[in-house]
Amino acid sequence: MWQNWSGEQACVPAVIERPRSTAEVVDAVQRAAAAGQTVRVAGAGHSFTDAVLTDGMLLSLDRMSRVIDANPSTGRVRVQAGIRIHALSEALARRGLALENLGDINVQSIAGATATGTHGTGSKLRNLSSQIEGVELVTADGTVRSLDGGELLRAARVSIGALGVITEMTLRAVPLYTLRGVDEPRPLSEVMASLDEIADASRHFEFYVFPHSDLALTRTNEVVDEAPRPPGSMRRWFEDVLLGNHALRAVCEIGKRNPERVPQINRKVARSFTKRVRVDRSDRIFSSPRLVRFTEMEQAFPREAAAEVIPEILAALEHYPVVFPIEVRFVRGDDALLSPAGGRETVYIAVHNFVGMPWEAPLRAVQAIGDRYGARPHWGKRHFQTAETLAPRYPEWETFARIREELDPDGRFANDYVRRTIVGASALLPR
Ligand SMILES: Cc1cc2nc3c(=O)[nH]c(=O)nc-3n(C[C@H](O)[C@H](O)[C@H](O)COP(=O)(O)OP(=O)(O)OC[C@H]3O[C@@H](n4cnc5c(N)ncnc54)[C@H](O)[C@@H]3O)c2cc1C
Repeated sequence: MWQNWSGEQACVPAVIERPRSTAEVVDAVQRAAAAGQTVRVAGAGHSFTDAVLTDGMLLSLDRMSRVIDANPSTGRVRVQAGIRIHALSEALARRGLALENLGDINVQSIAGATATGTHGTGSKLRNLSSQIEGVELVTADGTVRSLDGGELLRAARVSIGALGVITEMTLRAVPLYTLRGVDEPRPLSEVMASLDEIADASRHFEFYVFPHSDLALTRTNEVVDEAPRPPGSMRRWFEDVLLGNHALRAVCEIGKRNPERVPQINRKVARSFTKRVRVDRSDRIFSSPRLVRFTEMEQAFPREAAAEVIPEILAALEHYPVVFPIEVRFVRGDDALLSPAGGRETVYIAVHNFVGMPWEAPLRAVQAIGDRYGARPHWGKRHFQTAETLAPRYPEWETFARIREELDPDGRFANDYVRRTIVGASALLPR
């Protein structure tokens, strides 16, 4: 059996394979075809959707996790697709390099993270997949394709595993940098009053706010010309594990048992936020351990909708017991065909709830708000969209559909998620 990080998505594949090389991937895909099995790849299982699930062949690229080549002067780095982001960040740091931006965890595989359009925050920075300059892709008939540019690469950057198995990629890294990260509580009204200015004033800006609370926890990260000052292991454990996880879990458990107290709990937790300043290597500032299980939806809105839609979402969530804050992040538009931030400046708004608490009703309510703004879902986070509802929201949807059809006419790499959200009911593929 295979299951995802939150434990809410599980499947029993006919076979799980762990290839060590592109040649072994080709062999596995050809054997699956001969056996009439579909093929999916599991990264680190950190998607909340059924993106990975299969009853056919499941490939894990955990044994394909090497840095093949890194050139510190050009920043070009060739990696095997199964490498985890934390291992990649360490390997890059040893060579004086880093990734331009990261999300708030570092345990995903690079191919899994980019396949769903994973992003960090920074209004001048694009999502992780925009750093991909080339991809090696094993397609349905076992052909190994090198995609170095053009439409095919723009399709493969965010492909949700629907085009084939990505075995290697070339990324654009930047010189290693230190960040000064400042977390501080601020009145939500103050943040909302000058949201655009604040979002553009720093390299990275985001904020969290609980439903029922008028306090935001803002996070601002700036590049500094200083040596990293990593906290001692005790302090890191205290802040990241004890406060960030165990205390959070205890509060969530209280909310789960006493849903009527959620408004009060949320306000109390928000009031406990204090200012924290960290100076460390960029990847250590971006990511922290996530030990409390939750489920999540995240929608990509046109950035100009931010000031209007954030209060709407907070108001909608007040009707449900939601013990997690919303998270608001800004990214620059990019050109991947299925990137949720494709072609427009974007504000991402994420809604979470503690695992085991009701999630469907609040997420449906928030999605209904998103529908009015043409929001696009994060491909790795819960949503209820279909290919039919999504097609009009992506200007280059048809181009991706044509490329997918050319590369995988028989749906070798399709699962229910791909059929439901990308292929669509009108083009049913054989199961
Ligand atoms: C605690 C937590 C925090 C998160 N924080 C963020 C965040 O800050 N920002 C953000 O944007 N997202 C975030 N996410 C979402 C996460 O980054 C994405 O869901 C990401 O896709 C997970 O990567 P993974 O390696 O686990 O891939 P998986 O979830 O295992 O797979 C994702 C998709 O990629 C496909 N795939 C994987 N490898 C390959 C390959 N080699 N070739 C072809 N297809 C492949 C899979 O089939 C699947 O469709 C978070 C998730 C969790 C659980």
